[in-house]
Amino acid sequence: MTAKRADFPLLASSPGLHYLDSAATSQKPRAVLDAMMHYYTHDNANPHRGAYALSARATDRYHQARETIAAFVGVRDSACLIFTRGTTESLNLVATAWGRANVGRDDEIVITGLEHHANFVPWQQLANAVGAKLRICDVTADGRVDIDQFRTLVGPRTKVAAFNHVSNALGTINPVREMIAIAHAAGAIVVCDGAQAAPHLPLDIDALGADFYAFSGHKMLGPMGCGVLVGKRAVLEAMPPYQTGGDMIEYVADDRSTWNVLPHKFEAGTPNVADAVGLAAACDYLQQLGMADVRAHEQTLTALATERLLAIPEVAVYGPPPAERSGVVSFTVGQIHPHDLATILDELDVCIRAGHHCAQPLMRRLNLPATARASFYVYNSEADVDALVAGVQRAREVFG
Ligand code: PMP
Repeated sequence: MTAKRADFPLLASSPGLHYLDSAATSQKPRAVLDAMMHYYTHDNANPHRGAYALSARATDRYHQARETIAAFVGVRDSACLIFTRGTTESLNLVATAWGRANVGRDDEIVITGLEHHANFVPWQQLANAVGAKLRICDVTADGRVDIDQFRTLVGPRTKVAAFNHVSNALGTINPVREMIAIAHAAGAIVVCDGAQAAPHLPLDIDALGADFYAFSGHKMLGPMGCGVLVGKRAVLEAMPPYQTGGDMIEYVADDRSTWNVLPHKFEAGTPNVADAVGLAAACDYLQQLGMADVRAHEQTLTALATERLLAIPEVAVYGPPPAERSGVVSFTVGQIHPHDLATILDELDVCIRAGHHCAQPLMRRLNLPATARASFYVYNSEADVDALVAGVQRAREVFG
């Protein structure tokens, strides 16, 4: 089933808008906005605290949201699903709380050249702070992780391997099962950045087996400000908390404290209930569409856009072939700067992204200053591909 554009108030009220920047953030269906409004108009109170029915209802809504999201992404032990502000916070949580407790001088951290800054800088900073070695796996010319090099980089000194499931800049779907097996065979823990996978692929996090898996709600039809970190229970229980304060404690003595059980140990302070409720509604919406259909729909549009763009002189598309990418087309048009291209497209109501896509190490490796990126999602159609192609042709006319 494909999503109806009419389900998305912003798109429904802007019939001429071609929104092709869902890899940055998605639009929100009415079901998500309604769920959040319903929470605030009927169930809002500070959860876990009040000795009254309304607070119990808020607690219950928060709990239900966690259960729904956990079921959607294949997490059976929902207490191991921690709410955060997003992928960035999830990855910083791991690099800081787990990293500071477990990574020391001369230990090694393996990442890849394909990472978003959110899965690059926290590891770089951890390595610098504790004197560990950061090893960065090469990227092939067609934008894949060099898996042979990855195999040689991961060794007995590797404490952690961190990599994305899907690249935001190119759309590359990484062979994460193989990468997880390689890292685990060496005794390393695995941190997987699923920000571009959870919205677009059928996902079973338990079956995948990464020790940590992170994603953001706002890229999968949910609200901004709510994301997820899934961790293995034994790893979460053994590591220290990230932030301290209300809700996350068991007992506070004058000189020390003990921690609450999972997931509360990692959720200090008043939780973001409404956004969790919104994200759960987004999962319900995607569940109804069926993630296999979501993937198939994006693949069709990505293949079509790639083919039609490549038929235009001077267009180059980066990354592996469309069947091995998510709904992302990263491209350049001759010498036209991607920012100029995006400006021309904007005049035609086509929204794309231009720049380094928070992946400067990748752009350096591909020797590209910037690319234009069109990204597709459930509400896009062939009409959006037509508008993109027409816009690129117009830009070529404008820039000669
Ligand atoms: N990793 C990847 C692969 C991403 O695409 C993004 C968002 N662009 C992030 C991490 C960071 O996500 P957020 O900004 O939602 O924290």
